[in-house]
Amino acid sequence: MVCIQCGQNTQVFNSRPQKRFNKIWRRRRCTACKSVFTTVESALYDELWLIETHNKRLKPFSRDKLFLSIHSSLGHRKTATADAGALCDTIIKKLVPHVSGGKLKSSDIIKSTEVALNRFDKLASAHYRAHHS
Ligand SMILES: [Zn+2]
Repeated sequence: MVCIQCGQNTQVFNSRPQKRFNKIWRRRRCTACKSVFTTVESALYDELWLIETHNKRLKPFSRDKLFLSIHSSLGHRKTATADAGALCDTIIKKLVPHVSGGKLKSSDIIKSTEVALNRFDKLASAHYRAHHS
């Protein structure tokens, strides 16, 4: 990966697995300007999963759509963006056991999202339920 400031090569000087979210976090330093930045490695679930809707249609999973649906339920919170990102990671991890043959039921996504939101913020969970049931 090249430097985000000057485009020269970088070296990893620290890395840490985030087992909770199945991600690897890396600190990189530019060999030219010495800038330091963080990268995160994670799987692209958008390419891996297909969602089966209630009428048996298949559509590709989108982390962005999941993020937006959570974010819109957290509108009353100042930290909605960071909270929605963290909740997305949590929900995706909870969905893994529900995947069968690369497919996932939309009802499992809605259920897992409701459960995670309910633990996090009851009002957000009520907002979400109002839009997804
Ligand atoms: Zn640089």
